[in-house]
Amino acid sequence: MILILKPGTLPESHEYKQLFAHLANLAGITVRVHTEVGIEQTLTEVYLIGNTKALSVEDMQSLSCVERVVRISEEYRVLGRHENDDRPTYFDYNGVRFGQDTLNIFAGLCAVDTLEHVELMLKALRDHGQVCTRMGAYKPRTSPYSFQGHGKACLPYVFDLAGKYEIKVIAMEVTHESHVEEIREALYQTGTSTGVMLQIGTRNTQNFELLKIVGRQQDFPVLIKRGFGITLDESLNAAEYLASEGNRKVIFGLRGMKTNMGDPHRNFVDFSHVPVVKRLTRMPVCIDPSHSVGTRSGSPDGILDIMHATTQGIIAGANMVLVDFHPVPSKALVDGPQALLLKELPLFLEDVRIAREAYEKRAELAKRYQEAG
Ligand code: PEP
Ligand code: MN
Repeated sequence: MILILKPGTLPESHEYKQLFAHLANLAGITVRVHTEVGIEQTLTEVYLIGNTKALSVEDMQSLSCVERVVRISEEYRVLGRHENDDRPTYFDYNGVRFGQDTLNIFAGLCAVDTLEHVELMLKALRDHGQVCTRMGAYKPRTSPYSFQGHGKACLPYVFDLAGKYEIKVIAMEVTHESHVEEIREALYQTGTSTGVMLQIGTRNTQNFELLKIVGRQQDFPVLIKRGFGITLDESLNAAEYLASEGNRKVIFGLRGMKTNMGDPHRNFVDFSHVPVVKRLTRMPVCIDPSHSVGTRSGSPDGILDIMHATTQGIIAGANMVLVDFHPVPSKALVDGPQALLLKELPLFLEDVRIAREAYEKRAELAKRYQEAG
């Protein structure tokens, strides 16, 4: 059960103390408090854990400083959708809104290789009105002998250039606590000219200690990828780890499932789960067509499989697209064969626009039918 307190309720206030004194007397109930510090006001949610079935919503509603009560099911307590649950389905970060109603494109390098490539990529994005990108500094690789990413060495120039080209958010995978600290420090050193969305890669979806660490900080939002060989429920529970530790700025990423049933694609594309995740949770949903499809193959209609998969996800309501581009794919140190070319960026963005418009029309049509009964 969640008690949503009246906005601006202060822990020092008499009502707040009274409420907590009352809650402390409830047998078999433990209390967990989450505060969301916003620009205009601080919102407090009190999670009651334990035998809440015995509690009545009306009784809890009548307690001092309680604005609303939501009875939650066992599933995805913080991030899930529950009955009469009108908590927001969006968050803002560094001036950009991420929600179940918005669409953000994160085109960029799978892995940072050279300063020149980073600059060419960011310039192309700025020239096409984009404010987000992907830039991998820490790369978890199958072989220990493969390039592992430049790590913290590349962060200063990546962040400086992002500032120069007015990029507001960079998605960047982290695999260890130290990476979060290195990112925080480098951002500070470069004058916080950009922002970072921490990415939990598919290999780490169930690295629970990493999830707890990333969940305990609230400076950076988190994109968590679906685990490549586990159920959707298991991956959604992994996302819940982040939120249960305090960070609710979480986006869920679909990136295909590992099975040879998906051949000749790198992974089996799972974007039909976009509406499922939006129904089960309040998280915005990201699709990664590059790591799903994994090749630049195209169909006889002249459209690349990666672009087909992108638009399939968008027409189903995806809210974010993580996609690999590279100025010179033959020189990319990671995943060159799946990178789109900079000259394809305007085509890609136009294709995205068409699919998004079609999705909006579909949603509008469905609403009209629903309202007509
Ligand atoms: C990536 O986005 O760079 C990546 C490695 O993706 P995934 O974790 O989905 O394999
Ligand atoms: Mn990659």
